[in-house]
Amino acid sequence: MVTSAYWRTRLHRYRLVGNRCAVCGKAFFPPRLVCSYCGSTKLEECKLPERGRLVEYTVVYSAPKGYDVVVPYVVGIVELENGVRVVAQITDVDVNEVKEGMEVELTIRKLPEQLEGGMICYTYKFRPVIG
Ligand SMILES: [Zn+2]
Repeated sequence: MVTSAYWRTRLHRYRLVGNRCAVCGKAFFPPRLVCSYCGSTKLEECKLPERGRLVEYTVVYSAPKGYDVVVPYVVGIVELENGVRVVAQITDVDVNEVKEGMEVELTIRKLPEQLEGGMICYTYKFRPVIG
């Protein structure tokens, strides 16, 4: 990722900010320019729920080249409490204990990669809700 793209999208990734169609009410993440349900371009920024359920997942045993992360790790589709689906890494969980339907919550973590000038980057992940 280049520095300008990271900087432009940082608030969306730090706070899970998407947008909502002012006409039909559907919400999106990441934010869109056009509503895929009704075609409206009247979309308003909105903070998304920080909790949801893991709909599907896969365990990654071989990380992409240049993505220096400990394997295995879990990537899944999280359905937030308002129905918006987000693809994210699932963290703080043993890969053998991951289950479809488990309740998860947003957490912000440092990315393994750095940008130009050693800039440290953060992004969203989800972790199991304890208790
Ligand atoms: Zn719409």
